[in-house]
Amino acid sequence: MKHSIIVGNWKMYINSVADASVLVTTIRNNVTLLDKTKVVICSPSIWLTEIAQIIKKSTRVSVGGQNVFYEPDGAYTGEISSLMMKEVADYVIVGHSERREHFGETNFDVNEKVLACLKSGLKPIICVGERKKSGNLVQPIRELNEALNHVPKKYYKDLVIAYEPIWAISNGTVGDNASPEYVAKVANKLREIVHSETPILYGGSVNSKNAKSYAERPEIDGVLVGGASVRASEFIKICKIFSEAKEIVRK
Ligand code: PEP
Repeated sequence: MKHSIIVGNWKMYINSVADASVLVTTIRNNVTLLDKTKVVICSPSIWLTEIAQIIKKSTRVSVGGQNVFYEPDGAYTGEISSLMMKEVADYVIVGHSERREHFGETNFDVNEKVLACLKSGLKPIICVGERKKSGNLVQPIRELNEALNHVPKKYYKDLVIAYEPIWAISNGTVGDNASPEYVAKVANKLREIVHSETPILYGGSVNSKNAKSYAERPEIDGVLVGGASVRASEFIKICKIFSEAKEIVRK
């Protein structure tokens, strides 16, 4: 059975471990019985241990990091290696547009991070997307190709791709989501680069009102949710929508 993947990217939206614990406990309690759905909670690194502790008995929910450094160890103040991350998480977001924009991450860095994740047994969630709403896909295609440099094809099934057009990402509450038809077209293009079974998610202003339109598309294997992922009832609704969506075989 094919699973949808719903990733919650909490970014830096929550300010206390108490609030983070309540949120993840509520999500865990409400998604544990959902079929055909894998939920990945990407918390700030500082709470990953607590989050892992809370969800450890759930088969439906996994822990993800929001970032990782590619060097295995050394004098890198403030950084977290993929081996450290693997102790508490199974997934990690790599190359999010906010990291590219605010922290100067390049395609080279993203590629090094992907390689480090795979070496440590982490599944990288590789984010790619174009800056402007122009329909020009040069940027996401280049980002994906460069992220995969030196990655042996046998590892492609361990990757998750998140197509996140930058223009569609919300400011936390409001955003301009891309149409499911457009996302489906892009997903088909990106799928030519990876393996037919590599999950391709969509991210950009997903909420409980528009989630069904993505869940119904066979080309889209799930969603990466930012702003709506820290609102428990909203996020749980999105997970339920994907769980209930009928399975459609990709042609
Ligand atoms: C994101 O964090 O990548 C994202 C898609 O955010 P939002 O859902 O708020 O647009």
